[in-house]
Amino acid sequence: MLDWSEPSAPAHHVPPPLVAPSLAETGKTGPGTIDRRGGRVSVDDKRMINCRADVNQLLPLKYKWAWEKYLAGCNNHWMPTEVSMQADIALWKSRDGLTEDERRAIKRNLGFFAASESLVANNIVLAIYRHLTNPECRQYLLRQSFEEAVHTHTFQYIVESLGLDEGELFNMYREVPSITDKAAWAIKHTQHLDDPDFKTGTPEADQAFLRDLVAFYVIFEGMWFYTGFAQILSLGRRNKMVGIAEQYQYILRDESIHLNFGIDVINQIKIENPHLWTRAFQDEIRDMVRNAAELEAAYGRDTMPRGFLGLNAALCEQYMHFIANRRCAQLGLARVFDEAENPFPWMSEAMDLKKEKNFFETRVIEYQNGGALNWE
Ligand code: MN
Ligand code: FE
Repeated sequence: MLDWSEPSAPAHHVPPPLVAPSLAETGKTGPGTIDRRGGRVSVDDKRMINCRADVNQLLPLKYKWAWEKYLAGCNNHWMPTEVSMQADIALWKSRDGLTEDERRAIKRNLGFFAASESLVANNIVLAIYRHLTNPECRQYLLRQSFEEAVHTHTFQYIVESLGLDEGELFNMYREVPSITDKAAWAIKHTQHLDDPDFKTGTPEADQAFLRDLVAFYVIFEGMWFYTGFAQILSLGRRNKMVGIAEQYQYILRDESIHLNFGIDVINQIKIENPHLWTRAFQDEIRDMVRNAAELEAAYGRDTMPRGFLGLNAALCEQYMHFIANRRCAQLGLARVFDEAENPFPWMSEAMDLKKEKNFFETRVIEYQNGGALNWE
């Protein structure tokens, strides 16, 4: 039985000594101990990383962009179970509604996302949150973590609705080499960050933190998710798997804010710590982006060996080059590929739910009631 009654306090509770070490002394990024003699936080004390100001004081806000993204995320609230799966179930169970190539692409796409949403969530909670020492950024991270839970829930709901093999889907990131290669590449940049002894504060450690931010925000969420969105939304445009396509639109809307939050975080850390952004480090980040685009091209060939109407591995590779160059520009880096045209211009329409609210003509819920969607 659960006991809801008040826990009884020890009879003779002795309060801890009043002189507690300040955050400056401990370098802690958590609640630490309460500094009874510390001054109030002023905006000028706030920093993205290695901050010694009290992390428990949200106000005064310094980074308004972080707070605005938190509000935008809340305005976009949705749940996967609000989307009807009837048409998808009928199509998936039909004998010839989908080609074998389409089924392969859908399954691998779902498999990639199913584990990736958890990888992203774990990275936020176990690696990023501790080292980003700013309360308004953490407020956004808390919102983003919940959104990642909603996204993982989406894949649970899809598996259940379509009666897919859950073991097959949720193990693809371990069992399908083109998916494993991407997950392993991203995890490599996280491993030391969730080591309890890892601390920022040296140029090497701060650069390691930036590498994690690039790997997860810019590459995982900002590049690899985008081919995945294009695959499903292109089917949706042909009236196939419209329920999943609608869910992907909502995920895409969330992810475009995640990506832009990550870009803002990285750029703000650069402004505050220009010594980290060396020429050698910039080259390293560009190599990461180039390398990630190559892994994505391999995933494209694996998921679409023959391609299907309007979509194939070559177009996806071209799209990745376009996206990779764009991400470099957002980080103030020179492009990594020759100028590439966007082969999927309709993706930007899919992103703007407000304008295209009957895109798939399924049940539509107008969640967005705040600012315009101009994060991408
Ligand atoms: Mn997500
Ligand atoms: Fe995300």
